Amino acid sequence: MIRKHIAAACCALVLGGTPALAHEQLAPEPLAHAILRELLAIDTTLDKGTAGAVEALRVRFLAAGFDPADVTVVPYPAAPARANLVVRLRGTNPAARPLLYLTHLDVVPAKAADWTRPPFAMTEEAGWIYGRGTIDMKGEDANVAAALIRLKGEHYRPARDVIAAFTADEESQGAAGITFLLAQHRDLIDAGLVLNPDAGRAAFRKGRYESYGFETSEKTYVTFAAETANRGGHSSEPRPDNAIYDLSAALNRLAAYRFPARLTDTVKASYAALGAIETGPRKADMIAVGRGDLAAADRLSDDPNDNAAVRTTCVATQLQAGGAENALPQTARATIQCRLLPGDTPDQIRAQLATVFANPGVQITTVTPDRASPESPPSPAVWSTIRGVVQSLLPGLPVMPDMDAGGSDSTRTRAAGMPSYGVASLFDDIDDYRAHGRDERVNAERFALGGELTYRLVRAFSAPGAPGSQ
Ligand SMILES: [Zn+2]
Repeated sequence: MIRKHIAAACCALVLGGTPALAHEQLAPEPLAHAILRELLAIDTTLDKGTAGAVEALRVRFLAAGFDPADVTVVPYPAAPARANLVVRLRGTNPAARPLLYLTHLDVVPAKAADWTRPPFAMTEEAGWIYGRGTIDMKGEDANVAAALIRLKGEHYRPARDVIAAFTADEESQGAAGITFLLAQHRDLIDAGLVLNPDAGRAAFRKGRYESYGFETSEKTYVTFAAETANRGGHSSEPRPDNAIYDLSAALNRLAAYRFPARLTDTVKASYAALGAIETGPRKADMIAVGRGDLAAADRLSDDPNDNAAVRTTCVATQLQAGGAENALPQTARATIQCRLLPGDTPDQIRAQLATVFANPGVQITTVTPDRASPESPPSPAVWSTIRGVVQSLLPGLPVMPDMDAGGSDSTRTRAAGMPSYGVASLFDDIDDYRAHGRDERVNAERFALGGELTYRLVRAFSAPGAPGSQ
């Protein structure tokens, strides 16, 4: 985009302008674009930390006139480079519960050798902006920061405090980000409602805006180990009892098993809305799932994506067994990862696994405990507020609640009692999704639209009587 601005200035000059005019005719770089450029150039992978990005944003908020008391840097004491920034735009009604906009500044690593453009810089090409974090989620960070600065410049007084938290450690599931803020600085971020643009499904496909899913819930995961043991022996004298065969038999039973379908409010509402716009042979079953039809959910479950939406799943992901090529195995161990629907508990799932294995000799232990997190209700007030904003920019676009395969920091704010909604502002290409991948990029036009969407969401959710303010 900058190159375009410079080109325009150059042409004005050639066409008879004076050098003084050329400067005036440079279109100013949009604020969100400038912030994104700055953030992309700062490597915020786990090793480097987020302090540099926090400082860049802090300077911008102070320059925009925010009270220094409302721009708080919160470093993680054990690793101060992993810092958070919390900014507050004061509302007119101190009794109203605040709105929290939650974003993260850290990114996953990117090897320059794997990329065709430099990962830690902004590169603009043919209407796209490239750089690590453009989608996940520095593009969103920039849109949130720009929205708050724009509102400040407009002397906007929200009815409730609007807080923005730019955090560390989301990608590493670490302790320095939202976990730390919730545990040690709850007063800074406590809110009646959380909007998190790290989640949600703003879908763009085959050149058109397709639908907008706001995320109300995520599947959580728990990892188990299933182990068998045997006295072993020499491989020259095999016996029917065998640690590998016993474990294999149990795993084969798991492979053939499907947890019963269960339809959450979010999943039903999502299928009802998507079924209404579906044109293929799945349409009738999608609409039926929207009505709570479990048989239709089973029919759709041949598709792994649908299967994951309508039931808890458990799958074997790793195996270790045996000690030598000529010894009967004394142990065999499988890793089983389960993805739980909101409301299912690890104890229930573990008990069900034992039933499926049908062999008390298979020991089941927990490797990674679950991070249980409830569904935030897809209430009519939340739904209509989001729909109003989205459709003010994209008239008629279907807007529906959405459950994610996981996992954003919303699981943590939901578990802390704050209803949280994923409201991505960037309409990603469903067929070419590059978050965490090489040559991550965001479409420049859709980035600009996302900026306006973010601004309007902040306004709508900070109007008098907005959801979660009482
Ligand atoms: Zn993210």
